[in-house]
Amino acid sequence: MNDASMFQLAGKTALVTGAAKGIGADIAEQLLRLGANVVLADVDDRGEETAERWRQGGYTARFIHSDVSKSADVARMVAYAEEAFGGLDILVNNAGIFPRADLSETDETFWNRVMDINLKGAYLACQAAVPGMIQRGGGSIINIGSLHATKGAPETLAYAISKGGLVTLTRNLAGALAVHKIRVNCVHPGWVASDGELARLASNGEDGDSLEQAVRRMPMGRMQTGADIAAAVVFIASAMAGQITGQQLTVDGGIGLR
Ligand code: NAD
Repeated sequence: MNDASMFQLAGKTALVTGAAKGIGADIAEQLLRLGANVVLADVDDRGEETAERWRQGGYTARFIHSDVSKSADVARMVAYAEEAFGGLDILVNNAGIFPRADLSETDETFWNRVMDINLKGAYLACQAAVPGMIQRGGGSIINIGSLHATKGAPETLAYAISKGGLVTLTRNLAGALAVHKIRVNCVHPGWVASDGELARLASNGEDGDSLEQAVRRMPMGRMQTGADIAAAVVFIASAMAGQITGQQLTVDGGIGLR
């Protein structure tokens, strides 16, 4: 019989990449509030301030500088999370960049950078984390995708393809790892006015207009928040979702239905 205590994550350890700010910081916060120990990883060292703020609030948060596109950094990040709290239960591959470029604008360097962070970063983190999870008797891996993974977005070509790759990674690993009680799922955010998204819009000179247009296009009358995405992540991380693996959960207020 399920009960609400199955949402609790006390005693679990989570690692969230790209958690210095934006959606990743909101995911880390929800995991902490449900009792998990959380390691925040990011190339942005402001993650240390974020972790310190939560430590002062009595939560067990740590920060490690890590570039997910570099295998040595990823190995160090996973080892740190395992050692800090005695093992890793939850891995959230959230770090990502979303620069705009269509086919004609996408050169090889640009393509490689987007793939290295958004797709290779997740594969490296899974590869580093899975042996420990197998030893521990299970785990939950959550990849942060995008609506663009399945709908396509020619104006952000490399980004959309990197997120499509995350769906394929999710399904392949879920099939291979179910026997070890490791669940692998994907959460697709709709449109969140995160730090990164606001900076991207501002650099294109379209912040005010685009945000207004975005809200008008939202069937439920508002954009999504990082907390909306985090709610889906903590559900999937919890024992409540113990039989859910290989799935995609879209949190977009219905925008993808249009
Ligand atoms: P954000 O830019 O606000 O935050 C992303 C974080 O990732 C930053 O702290 C950044 O420093 C970090 N990061 C970037 N490259 C890194 C690297 N190589 N190694 C480690 N950390 C790195 O962006 P966000 O909107 O919070 O996006 C989080 C995730 O959600 C991304 O994967 C993004 O693609 C996805 N997403 C966002 C939206 C949206 O509307 N904001 C929509 C769909 C999907």
